[in-house]
Amino acid sequence: MLVEEYDGDLGRLFAGETTAVRERLLAINGIGPETADSMLLYAGGHHCFVIDAYTKRIFQRHDWSGAEAGYEDLQRLCESALDQKPLGDRLDYWQDYHAQLVMVGKGFCRPRQPRCSECPLKPLLP
Ligand code: SF4
Repeated sequence: MLVEEYDGDLGRLFAGETTAVRERLLAINGIGPETADSMLLYAGGHHCFVIDAYTKRIFQRHDWSGAEAGYEDLQRLCESALDQKPLGDRLDYWQDYHAQLVMVGKGFCRPRQPRCSECPLKPLLP
């Protein structure tokens, strides 16, 4: 698709409004919201916060979101809570923020037996 429709040019694939590019990616078989948003945020330079299982688990355990919150709910929550940086700094901030959630999820907030006592987010537990 990249070669046939965009001459192998990633810049062209990611060109345009974020919503339109996201729809373009989601239309590709096998690409879901998390993958599309990862591509947008890290490869495409779009302001699109990535939600994954780590984020969902951390947010639920801290009561920052309900168990029923879906992908878009969490994405809206994160994007509105993390919009205080000027637009020029926000991309790097969101990339780093998501990466740090992944590290907390991998290292501490495991599905079973979370390591809260050693976790950097322990002071934020309810
Ligand atoms: S303190 Fe860390 S390990 Fe414990 S629930 Fe929070 S994020 Fe998960």
